[in-house]
Amino acid sequence: MQIARSCFINGQWVAPDKPTSFTVTNSATGVPWLEVPLAGVPEADRACMAGRAAFAGWSDLDPAVRAGYLGRIADELEARQAEIAAAVSREVGMPLKLSERIQVAAPILAWRRLAKAAADYQWTETIGNSLVERVAAGVAICITPWNYPLHQITGKVAPALLAGCTVVLKPSEMAPSAAILLAEAIEAAQLPAGVFNMVIGAGADVGAALVASPEADVISFTGSTAVGRQIGAQALSAVKRVTLELGGKSASVLLPGADMAAAVRSTVGSCFLNSGQTCSALTRFVVPAAQQEEVLALISEAVQRITVGDPLDPNSRMGPLVSKDQQERVRRYISKGIESGARLVCGGAEQPGGNEAGYFVSPTVFADVDPASAIAQEEIFGPVLCVIPYRDIDEAVAIANGTPYGLAGAVWGPDDALSLSVARRIRAGQVDINGGPFNLDAPFGGFGMSGVGRENGRFGLDDFLEYRSLQQPQRKG
Ligand code: NAD
Repeated sequence: MQIARSCFINGQWVAPDKPTSFTVTNSATGVPWLEVPLAGVPEADRACMAGRAAFAGWSDLDPAVRAGYLGRIADELEARQAEIAAAVSREVGMPLKLSERIQVAAPILAWRRLAKAAADYQWTETIGNSLVERVAAGVAICITPWNYPLHQITGKVAPALLAGCTVVLKPSEMAPSAAILLAEAIEAAQLPAGVFNMVIGAGADVGAALVASPEADVISFTGSTAVGRQIGAQALSAVKRVTLELGGKSASVLLPGADMAAAVRSTVGSCFLNSGQTCSALTRFVVPAAQQEEVLALISEAVQRITVGDPLDPNSRMGPLVSKDQQERVRRYISKGIESGARLVCGGAEQPGGNEAGYFVSPTVFADVDPASAIAQEEIFGPVLCVIPYRDIDEAVAIANGTPYGLAGAVWGPDDALSLSVARRIRAGQVDINGGPFNLDAPFGGFGMSGVGRENGRFGLDDFLEYRSLQQPQRKG
């Protein structure tokens, strides 16, 4: 088994003083593959101090110089794409071909596009007698989950660095390889020491210590709503800036007369992508009651085409879940769905045949789901689609908006004008209309319990910048 390096502090790889050992398993086989010596509070403190010491020099640089570093980091990541994709597939469970594109190529592109965006960004503007500057907010703590590891890290670390913040990254210990490879890429790109630091440790001690550090100015967190609430309260009580990217329970709304086949293809694809371990997954399909059976027939056909298997096998369309705990949690939700009276159309709580050792769950579809039931309200984070019938458009909108979340959504209608008008009634951060694809430059984030703040593109810079306005004397004539 390989032993990972877990702490990159002040430009050096260091071993934790008192490591606790954590084993990452191959999610398709359950076999241990990586031993991580987890960092503790002393390493968290040292990383924050390194970030503080490097801040003045880094934030003083011209943004174009910082953008140059972002480009070099992208080059270094590109050179190791295959390695990152294979590690993410093994840890998280996404089939390799998809990982290469979604888990690796997309975030590398995000580094590059942000580097380019620096030139057009309005770093200063004049308003009356004020020169309004956008200045780096300080030391940024970036805490990320395991499901799209490089993507989520990129969504924070790239804009933080471009803004002039220094960074302490605490990635999820469940899928640490992408973060380790990124730290190596940053080392190879020769960022000044202390500008980027990483500590891999448990959330409850290392994560909490970073949030509490007096050196931490900005907390940017992606993860579960439960942990996000805790971190938000802790950060605000110390008057620190905080961004939260949390859970979701997003709806795909099918209007009468829409292209049903396209809607089914896209909704099924979104729901089961990465075995359902996607915060913006369309997990509720809100369909006209009169068309539910027709939709279900198309869904069943689409699900039958999903080959479940080892993510490193090129024939697999869906892999396992990240861990045994996650597998058991999802199975409990499926049993709960059956108990709630929802109609099980495909899948179920049993382990799919031939995949006994890994953390697999079959793609599962429920119909006639009560929108108030637990499977329709709570984030399952597994391959479970809830089909919910509606009678009129007002009811469809009410169902779509009827959870505490508001991360994403989709609307499928007979024409773009009607679809757009319905999309505008959906209280969510990003709504796709008739298959409009994901846009890396558009703001990503949630309404309601899905979070606070936005990531991606130039919008992602805002959370790492403060305004400073300099009032100049008004000289007469
Ligand atoms: P999680 O909340 O358990 O952990 C996220 C990170 O926070 C990990 O690095 C963890 O170690 C750390 N952490 C845990 N407790 C902490 C504490 N008390 N203080 C500081 N840090 C702590 O989430 P997860 O299981 O890793 O990820 C799945 C969740 O992430 C899902 O709910 C999903 O919806 C959400 N998510 C949201 C988005 C988004 O952009 N909105 C994207 C992906 C995932």
